[in-house]
Amino acid sequence: MSYAQLMETIGQVNDLLNTQSILSWDARTMMPHGGHETRGKQLATLSVLTRDLLVSAATRSQLDKAEAEVAALSDGAVQKVMVAQVREAIDYHLAIPAELTRKRAELGSVGHAVWAKARAESDFAQFVPILRQTVDLNREMANAIGYEEHPYDALMYRFEPGETVATLKPLFARLREGLMPLVKAIGQKEQPRFDFLERHYPVEEQHEFALSMAQKIGYDLERGRLDTTLHPFEVSFTRNDVRITTRFNPNYMAASLFGALHEAGHALYEQGVDPAYTRTPFATDLVGLYAVGGVSFGAHESQSRLWENHVGRSREFWHRHFAEARQAYPEQLKDVSEEEFFRAINRSKPGFIRVEADELTYDFHVMLRTDIEAAMIDGSLDVEDLPEAWNAKIKEYLGLDVPNDALGVLQDVHWSSGQIGTFCNYTIGNVMAGQLFEEARKEAAIATGIAQADYEPLRAWLTQNVLQHGRRYGRDELLVRATGRKLDAEPYIAYLTNKYSELYDL
Ligand code: ZN
Repeated sequence: MSYAQLMETIGQVNDLLNTQSILSWDARTMMPHGGHETRGKQLATLSVLTRDLLVSAATRSQLDKAEAEVAALSDGAVQKVMVAQVREAIDYHLAIPAELTRKRAELGSVGHAVWAKARAESDFAQFVPILRQTVDLNREMANAIGYEEHPYDALMYRFEPGETVATLKPLFARLREGLMPLVKAIGQKEQPRFDFLERHYPVEEQHEFALSMAQKIGYDLERGRLDTTLHPFEVSFTRNDVRITTRFNPNYMAASLFGALHEAGHALYEQGVDPAYTRTPFATDLVGLYAVGGVSFGAHESQSRLWENHVGRSREFWHRHFAEARQAYPEQLKDVSEEEFFRAINRSKPGFIRVEADELTYDFHVMLRTDIEAAMIDGSLDVEDLPEAWNAKIKEYLGLDVPNDALGVLQDVHWSSGQIGTFCNYTIGNVMAGQLFEEARKEAAIATGIAQADYEPLRAWLTQNVLQHGRRYGRDELLVRATGRKLDAEPYIAYLTNKYSELYDL
């Protein structure tokens, strides 16, 4: 009985979180500019109400009773796991003083304007005072949350539970060792033809083509839709309404196409969660306070990267779908072969900007940021010395000289919102995608399916092994169940090595 009451409360928390998501989806796609200030207030109100409901005395009393009620069940029993997750989340929120959360939200609201001006003028010094406050506040946050070895571990917990500076260190070292020689070798090679991707592609045609490709991989429009935005994202309001957005550049078709495949990959995760878990802890991030079924940000990213890169940028995929691309863009692609198209969408070329980076160089941007964030938080890197540290790493990893701060340390929006600890999930997603895809392809029906443009066997495998479970298992537990081992960089490194050796004749 108490268990049922607790679950109804969590259902209400989930309703409130979904309502916030709808308001932010609207703000990022439809809302006129004038709505910003009042929308911000509406979201702040709902966010306070949600947290208050979750940690209220009434909920805690339901939780105490529910714990007693499920105590006799076996450890992995669904009810017991759900109750334990609610306990963990409530402890987490109670550990953070409300004053600290308020200060960080406040800092986030002023930080954005300061950062935007500093970036526009490419002047890091303007951003230093705000960034210093952000770092101090996050350090206080880490101390409140608690950690064993490194304060940065406490900040990553919200996005990638279980990941620590100590576990990332060997992972990053192995990735650098495996991937840096590839980047260097490609630098000596001739680049493929790229001109046709930058021809004029009308936005309406891009919308139609991107959406048709998203549907090909299984994105369900009965429970989804595609809209336009500046910074592409996926958002779900339960598994029954999972929306994606993409950005349309009339002079670069690949952005909308691969953006849509990427976000559709995220969407497939949410659309694939077991319907029985709707409005439960397994479809609610009670720590991050976000209505989402994916188990961690990295796990979520594994699904977007898997569909965008392993499937969407594969030779097999374009062998089957290039004719459709040509049909959609007869003029723009009339002098382009399937092989030329495949090589162009897989071109690897070191650049300054993370969000524009290709598959091979992307992780270097992530490792650089993660290492810098951890060093700022433990105090071994002073905020003022950031540009120097940043530029040295870009030179070491990608061989580039950063010409100014706008193209360097000021490029990302993250720190301006007060947030630290979110970058590693991109690389964890890449690594996890490599591991899952290698395992899935061992099944003949999946490999044959992909070669015949039938993505159902792969989707079924992912649903069975990852999607349906929602947040029931931790990320590594999920990986062990699906592949027999925890996070392992080798399949990802082998995949990139094979792919780029073939592409660039290394
Ligand atoms: Zn993503």
